[in-house]
Amino acid sequence: PAAGEVILEAKNVTRRFGGLVANNDMNLHVEAGEILALIGPNGAGKSTMFNQLSGVDTPTSGEVLFRGKSIAGHGSREIAHLGMSRSFQHVRLLPKMSVLENVAIGAHLRGTKSVLPSAWRLDRVEEARILREAAFQIERVGLGEFMHAEAGSLALGQQRILEIARALASDPCLLLLDEPAAGLRLKEKQALGELMKKLRGEGMAILLVEHDMDFVMGLVDRVVVMEFGQKIAEGLPDEVQKNPRVLEAYLGG
Ligand code: ADP
Ligand code: MG
Repeated sequence: PAAGEVILEAKNVTRRFGGLVANNDMNLHVEAGEILALIGPNGAGKSTMFNQLSGVDTPTSGEVLFRGKSIAGHGSREIAHLGMSRSFQHVRLLPKMSVLENVAIGAHLRGTKSVLPSAWRLDRVEEARILREAAFQIERVGLGEFMHAEAGSLALGQQRILEIARALASDPCLLLLDEPAAGLRLKEKQALGELMKKLRGEGMAILLVEHDMDFVMGLVDRVVVMEFGQKIAEGLPDEVQKNPRVLEAYLGG
């Protein structure tokens, strides 16, 4: 997609859990080649929105369009094929397997329920292609020197980056990340931020869910702020940071 083209769009998305309205009439969009942060205090509804946007969950009402088409009823493998890829808030790596195997298996099994290596039955040509692609993504995110190390031996910040390499293996144009910086040390956060900027430079759009406002400032192009399931502000990082409604949400939350 051309830079600036709207690739992901939430239209009037509402998600109820019984009497609780976790997402209330949410509208937002992501443009090709930009980093958008979805921020807000804990419990604001960010992860729920992330699940609606990535097609893991279905809105009670409203719809999500990816490249102009509703994602409703499409499986995650199909959505990955269309060019949207997500990483998970809780690292789900196979710790005893190598970095390379983690990305290769992730690429092959993306979208299926099973993560069992025994389900990985491929002909040799296909296997070689997947390993080549996995190695390329590992180099791309800067983990080349750890290619054959056990995933579980990596520092937490490197494991998060490995998760991103796994998400990249389906060759997306949009990456969705739910709190990738959570629990990381400052140096690790900086490395993660640098990687996101590099990917953006290569034309990738990124939607980042984050509750740490400091992490997104200086990194992202635009910010959408949520509180109590609703959008309370939207704009450039500098504008949003000064918005009284946003400051109140963060201080009160
Ligand atoms: P955030 O990611 O911003 O911290 P969440 O989207 O996780 O917020 O949660 C928003 C609200 O929705 C919370 O009150 C949470 O308890 C509720 N919630 C989230 N998922 C579910 C669910 N599957 N069932 C019931 N309530 C949920
Ligand atoms: Mg969350």
